[in-house]
Amino acid sequence: MVGLTKTIRIPLHEPNKGKYDSLINTLNRYSECINFHLDGAFLYADSKEELHELCYHSSRLDGLSANLVQSARDRALEMYWKGCTHTSNVPLRLNQRIFKLVLRDDTLNLIGITTINGRIYVPLPPYLRPYQKRHLKDITSGKATCNSAELVDREGDLWIHLFVKYELDKPQYQPKTIIGVDLGVSKLATVSVLSKDAVSKVNFFDGSELRFRRKCYKRSLSEWQSNGNDAMVRRSKGKISNLSTHLNHCISKWIVSLAKQYSDPVIVIESLKGIRERIKYSKRMNAELHSWSFAQLQSFIEYKALEKGIRVEYVDAKNTSRMCCNCGHSHKSNRRDQAHFKCLECGYEANSDFNASVNIVKVFREKAPTQPTWLGGRGELNRP
Ligand SMILES: [Zn+2]
Repeated sequence: MVGLTKTIRIPLHEPNKGKYDSLINTLNRYSECINFHLDGAFLYADSKEELHELCYHSSRLDGLSANLVQSARDRALEMYWKGCTHTSNVPLRLNQRIFKLVLRDDTLNLIGITTINGRIYVPLPPYLRPYQKRHLKDITSGKATCNSAELVDREGDLWIHLFVKYELDKPQYQPKTIIGVDLGVSKLATVSVLSKDAVSKVNFFDGSELRFRRKCYKRSLSEWQSNGNDAMVRRSKGKISNLSTHLNHCISKWIVSLAKQYSDPVIVIESLKGIRERIKYSKRMNAELHSWSFAQLQSFIEYKALEKGIRVEYVDAKNTSRMCCNCGHSHKSNRRDQAHFKCLECGYEANSDFNASVNIVKVFREKAPTQPTWLGGRGELNRP
């Protein structure tokens, strides 16, 4: 079984003034309580038990319930280990003891939240999106569980983030189609499909737009910083990571929908360790490599595939970029430059990312413990 968590973000449906004030005041007290614990952690104690001893009783005097104080303490410790000294407007982390969902099919759904004025119930909006309705239905039918959530203040509007957890069986079937995914910097992802022993499809995801936007952003950022334009520096925070995340979502979605078109597909990705060791370009390239989140792309592919019941496997892709996918000859000089691959042994020429993605398929094919007959041979691959 594999755990899969989906987050649904829903605005609270017009809480009346009294309820709204209670929730906002609770959020403020919660932030204050976290700061109080942070001070305690930095000055006196940094273990859960010591911090509890030190801060619990004073925090309770502030009107927060025991569960809210515990939630604040845990949050403060996490922040302390990250080196964070102060916080404001932090989402209120809700566990099973602090919130309750009341889901009904015919009338409004409610969420109960423990505040400094006791538990209050606020309706969820009736106009939910279809996928949100589907997740709530899964909770009611017992297909999924929701034991944690967050209350978030978005510039005065209150939102609830529900973390819906599914337990899914890991798909186990004999693959008929192998989809090799090579990750890189110049091409963010190169996908090649091996079906019936021939490479039937190749697709590249170019990274140039991301590189260009990042360059523009860095230039603007240094200008704003030297001009003392703090407002723009603050506003641009997270822009590049948002763009990376968006691209990762698009790429992973495309790969999984491609896999769905084939019968019994398996998506094969190289393990992260391999990528870091393999790509050792200039310092500039390395910086780009680390800011580009391979781990995120892998996890996106993994969970999107799991939802559709598609297998994902990892291979140790040592030498995939310098090995010839035609004859298997491996040499550093086979890879002429970033884009161009030419085998010294057999003279095979190809795009180097394509060559690597085919090698990933081959490595998986050779290591697969049980193989259907057509996967058994180690014959030459047909070139696209
Ligand atoms: Zn060769």
